[in-house]
Amino acid sequence: MTTTQATNDLLKLSEIVGTNHVLTAASDVESYATDWRGNYRGTPLAVVRPANTVEVAAVVKYCNAHRIAIVPQAGNTGLVGGSVPDQSGQQIVLSVARLNQVHSVDLHNNTITVGAGVILQTLQEKASEQDRLFPVSLAAEGSCQVGGIIATNAGGVQVLKYGNTREQVLGVEAVLPNGDVFEGLRGLRKDNTGYDLKHLLVGSEGTLGIITAATLKLWAKPRSQQTLLLALPTLPAAVEALQIVRDACGDRVTAFEVFSRWCLELAIELVANIADPMQSPSPWYALIELSDSTDEAALAALAEQAFGALFERGLVTDGVIAQNQTQAAALWNIREHIPEAEKLYGKAVKHDISVPISAIPQFVDEAEAALAAQFPAARVVNFGHLGDGNLHFNVAGKSREDCAAVFAQAKSVNAVVYDLVSKHQGSISAEHGLGQLKRETITHYKSSVEIAAMRAIKAALDPNGIMNPGKVI
Ligand SMILES: Cc1cc2nc3c(=O)[nH]c(=O)nc-3n(C[C@H](O)[C@H](O)[C@H](O)COP(=O)(O)OP(=O)(O)OC[C@H]3O[C@@H](n4cnc5c(N)ncnc54)[C@H](O)[C@@H]3O)c2cc1C
Repeated sequence: MTTTQATNDLLKLSEIVGTNHVLTAASDVESYATDWRGNYRGTPLAVVRPANTVEVAAVVKYCNAHRIAIVPQAGNTGLVGGSVPDQSGQQIVLSVARLNQVHSVDLHNNTITVGAGVILQTLQEKASEQDRLFPVSLAAEGSCQVGGIIATNAGGVQVLKYGNTREQVLGVEAVLPNGDVFEGLRGLRKDNTGYDLKHLLVGSEGTLGIITAATLKLWAKPRSQQTLLLALPTLPAAVEALQIVRDACGDRVTAFEVFSRWCLELAIELVANIADPMQSPSPWYALIELSDSTDEAALAALAEQAFGALFERGLVTDGVIAQNQTQAAALWNIREHIPEAEKLYGKAVKHDISVPISAIPQFVDEAEAALAAQFPAARVVNFGHLGDGNLHFNVAGKSREDCAAVFAQAKSVNAVVYDLVSKHQGSISAEHGLGQLKRETITHYKSSVEIAAMRAIKAALDPNGIMNPGKVI
């Protein structure tokens, strides 16, 4: 692209969205050009901030006609480098942040229709104001936006009961790579009319189009909640406990998270205001949330009953049942700050894997043994959503000084972990997506049939390859 061409493109884009919304100064584009983990830094031609779907469509039409690559971006909290441009200086970042309107709420249909730039926490609050629940919940909820959670099919801590973001999406409005608008904001729970384009866009990480709005499911707001932290002697005990709690409490089990003792120690040492909630150390902890539409006392009795049963069977050695919301928040605070503690400790080789829940203990045993044999300086920071079979099985150094050396061997560490994930019929990306981080790796772990089908879909919808090139596929 020549300088004259670039100047002309910026002029045209400014005519569409207004000069103030085409950012080019290094200081203005910095936060859009770097990912949350600081692993990827790009150089965009510009950051373009349209105000509505009409402007998004006009920008995409122009870019498609002039073969300008577009990197869609929402809250920029993604963990796989999907939302940042490359270093060519020729890609634009298209931010949907200004599409931040709540369009409508339909209480009879139990749906809310919002723009792609609405922050997840705002969406949760809007639902709550209507005495409803929007259940997608994750530690980045104060920053990530609707377009981003749909484009990554985000999971979080309540998937066990409510499902991933995909399960919340009834309708999508999106601008396709040729600039056409797919007007799919239908709030239908039943619609078997051929290929489901909205579900193709869910989890597409900006490679098939730009999501501009969505119609999302609302759920009944729970009337009572119980939060328990259990100390467990082993990981198999946690898997056993999950089944017993589910048998006893049914779909009242909203979350079942686990973390190892080392995760707790890192959080206590490195994050402010986190204390050990138990009298004595334990190898594993499970954080469980139960919720129900009945009164608090009935659920509390159920929680105590479940805890008693686990204790009697020797599956838990200690436990805390939060007595109020402040105590519950303090327990969640531990879990939510593990990623931050890990980041403060040092660089780790991150994994976001899933295997069938029943296979988790064996996978962890095998992976820890293989890592110990090949990387003696490595230590696993193991935590995650056990109820979904999803672990953040991250590999750091035994000491802070060892972290850099372990990180330098990331490719070999990944191979050990991913080969075992594959052996146990798992996924190398349970909830964060592929982005640029796992674009190459996935070709080794997904069948050639699936990869070929994905490539065919991409080529059909985006023949000029302008939509987030270099990501996913
Ligand atoms: C502290 C922390 C905790 C996290 N916890 C979780 C967790 O528990 N579960 C989980 O699943 N994830 C988690 N994440 C990852 C991240 O928050 C999610 O992937 C989130 O869904 C990204 O949303 P975003 O708005 O920030 O999207 P971005 O980071 O801006 O974009 C993510 C991807 O979606 C594409 N995209 C963005 N907007 C659009 C759009 N409008 N149309 C088309 N494509 C678009 C981008 O191109 C990119 O590929 C966490 C991240 C952090 C920092």
